[in-house]
Amino acid sequence: MQDLLAVEELRVAYGSAEAPLEAVRGVTLALAAGECVGVVGESASGKTQLCLATMGLLGRGARVSGRVRFAGEDLVGMPLRRLNQLRGARLAMVFQDPQTALTPHLRIGTQMAEVLVVHRGAGWSAARAAALAMLGRVGIEDPGWCLERYPHELSGGMRQRVLIGACLLSEPQLLVADEPTTALDVTVQAQVLELLARMRRESGMAILLVSHDLAVVAGLADRIAVMYAGRIVELAATARLLSGPRHPYSAALLQCVPDIRGPIPVRLPTLPGQPPAIGERAGGCPFAPRCERREARCLVETPPLTADDEGGAHACHRPLPARAGRP
Ligand code: SF4
Repeated sequence: MQDLLAVEELRVAYGSAEAPLEAVRGVTLALAAGECVGVVGESASGKTQLCLATMGLLGRGARVSGRVRFAGEDLVGMPLRRLNQLRGARLAMVFQDPQTALTPHLRIGTQMAEVLVVHRGAGWSAARAAALAMLGRVGIEDPGWCLERYPHELSGGMRQRVLIGACLLSEPQLLVADEPTTALDVTVQAQVLELLARMRRESGMAILLVSHDLAVVAGLADRIAVMYAGRIVELAATARLLSGPRHPYSAALLQCVPDIRGPIPVRLPTLPGQPPAIGERAGGCPFAPRCERREARCLVETPPLTADDEGGAHACHRPLPARAGRP
């Protein structure tokens, strides 16, 4: 089966060609129709740059190379006219902060209906009726009231539901969700994740779900890609990654996820040190300064992403043994 999305050797660089600052460094990732792939990693690991490059939303200062094939068409270098036909119609993106993603001076009904008017050629009254129905589907208790509100009149959770509803109105084949729950409290976060899962079941769309929090993606993603310093360092089925991470960075991230079933720790574990800044990524493994398993070659040889025998892949010279993670 052909992948719906196939990212191949994607690179995003800033600065001069002689001394480029690479935010994304050769990412290869594929999504099948209906699949959810989670992308996790600390801040500055390249997750948002990957999302924006996938959507063709990077600014003029970014140099993008590689391929982003969506349903067979390469989005990198695609004429803006064609890109705009795909975005909002077959491709949609949920941003981290719904307050800034919604237009502040337009009522919710107007900006939601506009999606169908622009991308599906619907009339305004039919589009408003569809927006009203969608607000009900995304769990807004009084859709008629909400339709007449401005974004600042809604809570953060309602705004995120509105944004997701607006994205889903045109029934996209792929939803890119960049930290969709980071700005929300944990109760609303759980509701939004449940909503995404339900919408995926009902519409069969694929989701690229990005978060710095492994626990957020674990309940929704079929596979998880772990990013560090602009590269994917591990890619595996969710259950396999959670039960037996092979890359030391994946294992360290998992150790930092609080487990409410066990004894209450005196201190929550943290991962010491910081990821390298974008201009400080020398040769060798970028995780080496923080890695307890490093050896001499880690400091000079960058490990390639290599397939393992369990259907996943990891980029490490000295990976953890299979199934050695936490149960
Ligand atoms: S390559 Fe070496 S330093 Fe990097 S994660 Fe693996 S063991 Fe650690």
